[in-house]
Amino acid sequence: MDELWYKDAIFYAVDVESFQDGNGDGTGDFKGLASRLDYLGEMGVTCLWLLPFYATPNRDNGYDVKDYYSIDSRLGSLQDFSDFVAAARERNIRILIDLIVHHTSDEHPWFQAGTMDTTSKFHDFYVWREEKPQQETENIFPGEESSVWSYEKRAGAYYHHKFYSFEPDLNVANPEVQEEIKSIIEFWLAFGIDGFRVDAATHLLSGKGTPGTSVKRPAAFLKSLRKTATKKSASTILLAEADVTPDKLGFYYGRGDRINMLFNFLLDNYIFLALAREEAEHVAEFLERPLPHYRCQWANFLRNLDELDLERLSEKERQDVFKRFAPKAEMRIFNRGIRRRLAPMLNGDRKHLEMVNSLLFTMPGSPLIVYGDEIGMGEDLDLPGRTSVRTPMQWDSSTNGGFSSAPTSKLFRKPVTTGPFGIKQVNVEAQLHDDNSLLNWMKRLILIRKNCKEIGWGTPKVVKASLPQVLVHSYDWEGNGLVFAHNLSSKPCRFSITSRKFHPRQFVDIFCDTDYEPTAEHTTEIYLEGYGYRWFRVNELKKKQ
Ligand code: MG
Repeated sequence: MDELWYKDAIFYAVDVESFQDGNGDGTGDFKGLASRLDYLGEMGVTCLWLLPFYATPNRDNGYDVKDYYSIDSRLGSLQDFSDFVAAARERNIRILIDLIVHHTSDEHPWFQAGTMDTTSKFHDFYVWREEKPQQETENIFPGEESSVWSYEKRAGAYYHHKFYSFEPDLNVANPEVQEEIKSIIEFWLAFGIDGFRVDAATHLLSGKGTPGTSVKRPAAFLKSLRKTATKKSASTILLAEADVTPDKLGFYYGRGDRINMLFNFLLDNYIFLALAREEAEHVAEFLERPLPHYRCQWANFLRNLDELDLERLSEKERQDVFKRFAPKAEMRIFNRGIRRRLAPMLNGDRKHLEMVNSLLFTMPGSPLIVYGDEIGMGEDLDLPGRTSVRTPMQWDSSTNGGFSSAPTSKLFRKPVTTGPFGIKQVNVEAQLHDDNSLLNWMKRLILIRKNCKEIGWGTPKVVKASLPQVLVHSYDWEGNGLVFAHNLSSKPCRFSITSRKFHPRQFVDIFCDTDYEPTAEHTTEIYLEGYGYRWFRVNELKKKQ
């Protein structure tokens, strides 16, 4: 079932600019990333998601593309990219790249041509209005942009931008734009990549408050994107960003013929609510929802490289998460999210970090790790906006943290050097040499997860536990059973479970935070340390002679 490889994949998000500088100019690049593929392979990562690397004025972390067919010259050349993909292939690491076709940079030649000459076909590549509409939709960046319409003097009209004003929205309803999108997909397929992460998928399909700008047959459009993406290989996938209400998610999956994977924003919100309140019911609620089509899969994550967006929670719930994990105003952004990394949010508490990662890896879907979270990197709140979590990878304790040999003054961004998450305290080299490091623990987690196919393929069931701070869930797939127990509280606890299918005396520990005694014959009670976790395989009861 190689075609469905993503059902079992271990994803790793990497920002090329921030990962490893290979030519000593102070900016990460493809040569540097290629030199770290062994590290990623040894960790057990099976697929990299590369954040945008296209030619760009770089005012929005590369999401402002000015040429879809070339690479940001700071990061390397097309040849470097090609060499990198080949090197990854040799190590059986797959590559997903970002497909950013909701908008372009205002420096893109299409926008320039369409602005200079309103009779040009490129004018209709964007969304225009002669008068600024009274009513308008919300901008993605409240506080940074006051409107979704900006005036363009040369065109004598307003253009639509859901994101920044320097990112004009493409008119995706225009068939010529759709053809361009397909050409972009085909161009990158030729390099042998394994799929695309479709940026802003929801906004891509929706109208722009002006007639004729909604994609007419959105389902058919998604199918046609999939068809284009799978022209070379049926195993090429689309992974989409669609942070929408649960009732709308099924549309993207279709019957397994549209989007293969969606980022699981809903679960991420529930996990952080559960952690903040130390109540398992919020995650249990997600586990009771129907799974996507069997050819589809969730991409589960704790953090991504944007803010931790808490839009799926109510105001009260969101405030509870803020209070626990982002107590200061500077840690929050856009009134809806948190601009911190995981480790500082959990105060660097190793037991808490293990439990939360264990929880992630037992959720139905495929897990995604963000670069640096495997060693517990922190953020830099002095950096503006969402950049706070994109500091350079911390490879060792030397100057620049091993990220670059350039003088520190030449770095595109400085690594974290002070505090408990600085390069001296948190780096790859030290953790590789320490058997008990978070990194080595993550490697074990990944290895064991790969042997638990039930999670990627099976259906989860919530098991009734006698304490609200404990989540117990199980999978049953092809006759094999797995049970997981997680204690969301820092206090140790003893609880009992109720299930007709199994009894704790059938459980064999396969992964846990400490050495636990097996559960005694006469009881259904299970013990967990504070932030404890236990993974069990269910053995069949031995029949009495
Ligand atoms: Mg460089």
